Amino acid sequence: MRLIFLGPPGAGKGTQAATLAELRQIPHISTGDILRKAIANQTPLGLQAKSHVDAGELVPDTLVIALMKERLEQPDTKNGWILDGFPRNLSQADTLDQLLQSMRQTYDCVVNFEVPTEVLVERMLGRGRKDDNEATIRRRLEVYQEETAPLINFYQSRQCLKVIDGNCPVDTVTQALQESL
Ligand code: AMP
Repeated sequence: MRLIFLGPPGAGKGTQAATLAELRQIPHISTGDILRKAIANQTPLGLQAKSHVDAGELVPDTLVIALMKERLEQPDTKNGWILDGFPRNLSQADTLDQLLQSMRQTYDCVVNFEVPTEVLVERMLGRGRKDDNEATIRRRLEVYQEETAPLINFYQSRQCLKVIDGNCPVDTVTQALQESL
C-alpha cells in the first residue's frame, strides 16, 4: 500500500501516518521528521534546511527531492509507504511522479485531512515544537495555502483523492481512515 497524506500543518497527518504505518507494517516517511533530525544532528542537510524550517518556509525543492529520492530507494519501501509532508508543491508532485515512474511504482491514493484553521492554530500552539511559535505557525499556514493547497485539485483531477474529516478525536479519524482505504 502506497499512500500520500495531504493537509495543512496541524491536521494530524503525522499522528495518523504513524498509527497506520504500524498497523500495515510499512514505513512512515515524514520529510519534516527527517529534516528536524538532520537539524538536531547538524548534518550538511540540516545546516542548509534550518533557517527555512525555523521561518516556516519550505526548504528548497532540490534538498527535499534529493532526500526523498534517497529514502524511497531504501529496501524497506518495497511493500509500501506513507508519505507525510511530501509533496508540498506542484513541482515536488511532478518530480514524485517521475521518480515513481522510474522505479515502476505508483501510489494507491491520496488522503486529504480537513481541519478548520482556528483548530489548526490551537493544536500547533499546544504542541510546543520549536517551529510552533505564533509567527511561524501563521507563515506555515500561508505557505500551505499558496503552495500546497493546489495539490488538492491536482490529485482530485486524477480521481485518487480521499477526504477525511480531521476535526474529530484521534481514534475516530483512524477508524474513518481505515474504512476509506
Ligand atoms: P512538517 O513536520 O511536515 O510540518 O514540516 C516541518 C517543516 O519542514 C516545514 O514547515 C518545512 O519548513 C519543512 N518541510 C517539510 N516537508 C517539506 C517539503 N516537502 N518541502 C519543503 N519543506 C518541507
